[in-house]
Amino acid sequence: MLVIQNTLSGKKEEFKPINPPHVSMYVCGPTVYDYFHIGNARSFLISDMIRRYLEYKGYNVKFVMNLTDVDDKIIHKSKKENRSFSQVADTFTQAFFEDIEKLKVKPATLYPKATGHISEIITLISNLIDNGFAYNIDGNVFYNVARFKDYGKLSGKKTDELEVGARIEINNEKLNPLDFALWKKAKEDEPSWNSPWGKGRPGWHIECSAMSCKHLGDTFDIHAGGSDLIFPHHENEIAQSEAATGKPFVNYWMHFGFLNINEEKMSKSLGNFFTARDILAKYPAEAIRMFLFQTHYASPLNFSEEAIQAAQKGLEKFTNLVDKINSELSAPSQAAPMTDFDFPTFYSAFESTMDDDFNSPKAIAVLFDFIKEVNRKITESPSLNSGFYLKTKEFLEKTAIGVFGITSFEKEVPASSGIEDKLIELLLSIRATAKKEKNFTLADQIRDELLNLGVAIRDTKDKTLFKKV
Ligand code: AMP
Ligand code: ZN
Repeated sequence: MLVIQNTLSGKKEEFKPINPPHVSMYVCGPTVYDYFHIGNARSFLISDMIRRYLEYKGYNVKFVMNLTDVDDKIIHKSKKENRSFSQVADTFTQAFFEDIEKLKVKPATLYPKATGHISEIITLISNLIDNGFAYNIDGNVFYNVARFKDYGKLSGKKTDELEVGARIEINNEKLNPLDFALWKKAKEDEPSWNSPWGKGRPGWHIECSAMSCKHLGDTFDIHAGGSDLIFPHHENEIAQSEAATGKPFVNYWMHFGFLNINEEKMSKSLGNFFTARDILAKYPAEAIRMFLFQTHYASPLNFSEEAIQAAQKGLEKFTNLVDKINSELSAPSQAAPMTDFDFPTFYSAFESTMDDDFNSPKAIAVLFDFIKEVNRKITESPSLNSGFYLKTKEFLEKTAIGVFGITSFEKEVPASSGIEDKLIELLLSIRATAKKEKNFTLADQIRDELLNLGVAIRDTKDKTLFKKV
C-alpha cells in the first residue's frame, strides 16, 4: 500500500487515485529566463523518480509540467539583452529540454506553455469575476482573497496574521493587501494580449490553475513542487481553481525540500548556485541522480561536490555488477543447475520502502544489500546458471534503472571523449608525411575518404584545417 505525505492534511495518507490505473500529476516547472540550477534540478529529478515509481507499480501516469514563458524575470532579461521576450523564452526552453535529457529525466506527457493558454486563462478569470471572486480595477484584475473562506488551508497561514505582515506593501490599487494579480495591465514595451479588461498579460498563479484544469480536469491526483511554492503559489492555485469549479482541486499535495549550500537555499537571487549544465560537465547524470535520491525528497539536502563524488563512488558497485552480468550473458550459457536466490524478498523490501512515501534512501540501501548478496553468491559458486544472471539483470532494470536511472546496461561512448577529432588529426599528420614524401596518391586518398565520411579539409600555408560537413 503506497502512502504519501500530503501537505494538505499534514499526514501520510493511502494513495487512492481517482481513476485507477490512471494517475494525473502536475508539477510546477521552470520559468525559462536562464539555465536552471542544481536546486531546480532537485525538483525535476524527484518528480521524475515519483512518476517512475508510480509506473513501476503499474499506474498509467499523465505527467504534466508547465513552462512559465512570460513573466517579469523574462521581460527584465529581454530588455537587458535587447531581445524579444519570446527569444529569451525560446532560448532557455531549448536549454531546459537539453539539460533534462542529459539528466535522464523521462519526458513529461505534456509541457504546456503559459503563452499557449491565454484564452483558457481569460475564460477562468472571467468566471472568477462573474462569481464575485475577482475584480477589475482599471485593467488590472485581482483575486479577492477575503471571498474564499478556505484561504490558508494548504500553508496553515491565517489571513488575519498575513494581513498584518503584508501591511507594509499595501497597494492602493487593491481592496486588500493579500489580493493577488490575475491579469496585469499592459505596460509600455511589454508583451500583451487582448482581453475583456484591455491589453495585458496573465499573473503567474493563474497559469497553473488554467493549464492543470485543461489537461488534467477539475480535480486531479497529485500536485507537486518545491516547498517554496506552498505559499503563496499553491495556496493561490487552490483559491482560484476551487472558487471557479466548486470542487476540490487536488487530492495529494507533495512538496520537496530545498537543496542548500552552506545551509542556505540555493537560488538565483542569492547568487549561490551551480547550473545543472556546469555540474553535468563534470559528473555523469547517474552520479547526480544518486546524490539526490540518497536523501528523502522532503528533507533539506546540502550540496557539495564531495557529496556527488561519494555518490559516484557508490555507483561503482552497480557498474561492476552490470559488467559482470554483461560478460556472463554474452558467453555461452552454463549448464549449471538453477541457483536458488530469494528475488521476491528483495522486490518486496524495495517496494515496502518506496511505498512508504517514496523513501528512496532506504530503497537504495536495499539495492546495495541486493548487490552484496548477489556478489556473495557469485564468489561462492564457480558456475552459475544464466537464468540467475537474467533475473539479476531484470531486478536492476526494474529498480535501479527503471525507477532511479542510476545505472545502465548499455555502454555509452562519452560524446566529449574527443577521440574522433584526435583520429582525424592523426590521419592529417600521416597525410602531411605522405605529401613530404611525394606520395600524392596516399595524400589524395586520405582527403577523399575523409570527405566521404563527412570531413572536409583545407590546406593553408602552415596547417591543414578540417571541418565536419
Ligand atoms: P523556478 O524556475 O524558480 O520557478 O523553479 C522551478 C522549480 O525549482 C520549483 O518547483 C521550485 O520550487 C524549485 N526550486 C527552486 N530552488 C530550489 C532549491 N534550492 N531546492 C529545491 N528546489 C528548488
Ligand atoms: Zn505552478
